[in-house]
Order: sequence, then C-alpha cells, then structure tokens
Amino acid sequence: MKNKNFLIYFIVTIIFFFTLFILKYINDSKNDYQIISEKILFQQASTLFNNIVTMRKWSSDHGAVYVKAQEGIEPNPYLLNNHYYTKKNKLLIKINPAWMTRQISELSNQREKFYFKITSLNPINPKNLPDEFEKFALEELKKDKNKEFYTRIQNDRYNLMGSLKVESSCLECHKTQGYKIGDVIGGLRTSVPIDNYLENLEIVESKSNVLYLITIFTSILFILIITFTINSIYERELNILTLNKTLERKVNRRTKELRDANKKLLEISNIDYLTNIPNRRYFFEAGSKSFYLAKREEKNLSIICIDIDYFKKINDTYGHNIGDEILKLLANTMAKIVRKSDILARTGGEEFTILLNNMNGRNAFVFAEKLRNNIENLTYTNNDIKIKLTISLGISQMKKDDENLDSIIIRADKALYLAKEENRNKSVIYSHKE
Ligand code: GH3
Ligand code: MG
Ligand code: MG
Repeated sequence: MKNKNFLIYFIVTIIFFFTLFILKYINDSKNDYQIISEKILFQQASTLFNNIVTMRKWSSDHGAVYVKAQEGIEPNPYLLNNHYYTKKNKLLIKINPAWMTRQISELSNQREKFYFKITSLNPINPKNLPDEFEKFALEELKKDKNKEFYTRIQNDRYNLMGSLKVESSCLECHKTQGYKIGDVIGGLRTSVPIDNYLENLEIVESKSNVLYLITIFTSILFILIITFTINSIYERELNILTLNKTLERKVNRRTKELRDANKKLLEISNIDYLTNIPNRRYFFEAGSKSFYLAKREEKNLSIICIDIDYFKKINDTYGHNIGDEILKLLANTMAKIVRKSDILARTGGEEFTILLNNMNGRNAFVFAEKLRNNIENLTYTNNDIKIKLTISLGISQMKKDDENLDSIIIRADKALYLAKEENRNKSVIYSHKE
C-alpha cells in the first residue's frame, strides 16, 4: 500500500513538473513572438527614421535647396534668408533641412499610417512643440547620451524617438540658442501602425490559451488514468493475496480436519491395513474379553505366538514389496485355518498371534503344527520368483493364576524364543521346566 501511494505521488509529481515545463515553454514562445514582432516594428520605425535622416543629410550637404516659388509653398519664417531672387527676377524659396522635414512630414502624416514629426524640447517653431510622449522620450535621450532611440507602444502606434544632432545648416536658425555642431538639438519621432502586430498577438494569445488548456486537460487526464490503473492493479493484487490467504486458511483447516479424521479412523480401525486381518489393538481388546470370560467360566484358552523365520533375508533378497506380498499370503493362509470364533491378528511386523478359545495347550500345539505344516508347504510365486518360507511358533495355555492375557502371551513368546533357538520351523509349547 505504501509502495502504491509512493508510485502515485512520484508519477503525479513527474507529470506536474512536465506540465509546468510545457506551460512555461508555451509562455516563452508567446513572449518570444512578441519580442520578434516588436523588433519588426522597430525595424519599420527605424527605417522610416533613417530615411528622413538621410534626406535631411542630403539637404544639409547641399546647404539647403531652393525651389521655384509657387502657390502652396511657404518660406520658412524662422530662417533669416528664406528666399532668393534670380537675375531674371524669379523668386526661389529656400528649403533648409528642418523646413523640408516639416513639409514632408505634413504630406506623409495625411496618410496617417506612417507618421513622423521633428520636435525639440526647445523649438523655434511652436508646431514642433513635443507632445507628452515626445517630451518624455527627448528627456530620456538627453539623460543618456549613448542612447540612440526611445520607443513606446502608445495610441495604437509604435512610436520611436531618435535624437537629431546639430549640423552646420541648423545653426543658421538655431545659432541664437547657443547650439554647437554635434549637440542634440531635438529628435525625430516616427510612428508605425500596429494593427497587424495587435492582431497577430491576439491570435498567438488565443492559440496559447488553447494550448494551455489542452496541456492542463491532458495532464489531468494522464494523472487520472495512471492513478486509476495503479489503483486497480494494486486492488487486483490485494484481492489475489486475500483470496490466497483465505484459500490457504481453508486448505490448512481441511488438512487438519483430514488429519484428525484419519487419526480417528486409524484409532477406531481394528483391521490391519496390509493383511486385512485384525490388528494388535483389536487382538488385545477382544482377547482380554475372551480371557476374562474363559477365566470366569473356567474354560481353557491358549495362545500361539508366530514369527516368520529369516524374514529379513526375504526382504533383503527380493525387496520390501515382495515381503509385503508374502505377509499377505501368510495371513490369508492362516486365516483360512483359524476358526472364526478364535482370533488371529497381526501383532507385529512379521509376527502374528492366535487366541484359541476352549483349547488346552496340547490341542493348541497340534493346531500349531498344522499351521506350521501348511506354511512349510506353501510357495509364494511371482513370475520367476518362487519363495518357500517357514514359521516358528510358541504355545502357552491359560493357567489358573493368570491375572491377564499378557501373562499367557509372555509365556508363549518365551516358547517361541526357544523354537527359534532350536533351529526354527518349529512349534514349542511352554513348559514350566524350561
Ligand atoms: P528370525 O526368524 O530369526 O527372527 O529372523 P528374521 O529375519 O525374520 O527376524 P528379524 O527380527 O531379524 O527381522 C524381522 C524383519 O521383518 C525386519 C523387517 O525388515 C521385517 N518386517 C517387519 N514388518 C514388515 C512389513 O510390514 N513388511 C515387510 N516387507 N517386512 C517387515
Ligand atoms: Mg520378529
Ligand atoms: Mg522373524
């Protein structure tokens, strides 16, 4: 769960910063566009400025020009020698650079789009008085002599003010004002229209806004999708984990139930799993009852303990499976001989015990010999394998002073031990002397 939250925070942070980066990039591009557009406006305004300056220079270099007097051409009233009569008495009007600029500007300004004006903080011609922008710009240029231009976007125009320096032709009028050649006498203001600039900015602005929205929307969508995906993956994993745990718990419970049931089954089972004859538990349970009954009714009861001879060798030679098969065969053979009212049980690995009701030791010995003979004549066959085997038997009968079944079994076991000692394949009845 901790990992999940960390993963979500991590991805959301990355997307957040990535979004910020894109938004900044869009904003920078927008600003760059505005800067480039303003540079173009500057280019236009400064080109106009330079054209006028070049014209003024041309006029100045010629020490002003004279034009034929005709209607509409006024002489410069601020110029001392503002006209001239030729030898043929023709009137020529002197157009000095300032007067030329004034006249061209009036012509140009009729077109309104491209506007220019010569101006000064201290003009001789009151028409050249600066407006608010011009005054401010001239003061700025005056403050910083190295500054060539002052620009400002105002009144739907891009306005540029460039300084004009005193030239020799200027002194004719401005001498009285104490100017020297090279001094800043005033400025030339040019204005260019900014309709296209504003229109383009508006387009860029609206396109940027669309990009902002798309970016933010996409980022939010990404965050939602990723969060949802991570959540559902973790939820699925959690479900699987919970299911696994539930399943494991169920399996454990069932296993325990099964184990308990098996244990119980084994406990209540009286039958030997291999040979299918009664087992040791049953033998002692049922045998004890027979013992006490015989004791009460003062009847005979005999026990025969049987042990297979050299059974280990059979196992070692033919394997445990064959050994098991032989145990089954032996048990079946004996079961056929033993009466249903008596008890034959597998009481050990290759040991069997028989309880014979109503039978004294002598008869039990005869019965034991019958069994021994039967087994001696028995042959276990499995394909090519043929095995002969023998058993040793110890017999004992119930005595008056026997307190329980065990006493008889112990004596029968002792007799069996003797049978083994006497070279096996033998029945020995327990006698006191021995
Ligand atoms: P002896 O007659 O002299 O006592 O020799 P033995 O080899 O039969 O007796 P021992 O006590 O040496 O070995 C008994 C063997 O019986 C040991 C074990 O391998 C085998 N055995 C016990 N229970 C089983 C069983 O359920 N299946 C098989 N195949 N063998 C068993
Ligand atoms: Mg044994
Ligand atoms: Mg044995």
